[in-house]
Amino acid sequence: MPTPGQLIILSGPSGVGKSTIVARLVDRFAGRLRLSVSATTRSARPGETEGEQYHFLSPEDFAVRQKEGGFLECMEVFGRGYWYGTLLDEVRPSLAEGKWVILEIDVDGAQKVRCQFPDVLSIFIQASSDEELERRLRDRKTDSEEAIRRRLEVARRECAQADSYRYQVVNSDIETTVGEIANLLTDEGLEI
Ligand code: 5GP
Repeated sequence: MPTPGQLIILSGPSGVGKSTIVARLVDRFAGRLRLSVSATTRSARPGETEGEQYHFLSPEDFAVRQKEGGFLECMEVFGRGYWYGTLLDEVRPSLAEGKWVILEIDVDGAQKVRCQFPDVLSIFIQASSDEELERRLRDRKTDSEEAIRRRLEVARRECAQADSYRYQVVNSDIETTVGEIANLLTDEGLEI
């Protein structure tokens, strides 16, 4: 029987670079670390594929999975109007195999996971400044002015909870940030 794996939460404001960071970490610790693919009721954006970024579910199917107890946590993410959730099937089998599983989830989902897994290793990614975060959101060119304002408001609310995470990392440069998180995961016992 392998030693059970470790659960990791990665949160941070929209636009801070979480997805890129997670993808690089999963590459770096190939076979040992995997991303839990969340379910969501929002539609796929151009370039997103079912089962890669998300499992895209209809609101009805999402509700059925919720009723069946299929989620570790799920919620209507603040400011989005869509449901997001961590599927138990994405987490349990990998942990049982001794893998480390990373959840890219919001601050409220993180709080729910912490209640069930007090030993969860939690990491909050901060932007170097509010101005930098706003610049990143504008550079993505995916959102209207109103959507950007809403994302910034949500970001301020999320950053106010950064202290409840075990680690906080400022993302000024992607390579440095990935290196920093890789080092802390290695210190916590994740082998390459
Ligand atoms: P997106 O831009 O992909 O539509 O929205 C991402 C937001 O939803 C981010 O704040 C992300 O952390 C959060 N999110 C993604 N998956 C989950 C999940 O499974 N559970 C929770 N609680 N939040 C999630």
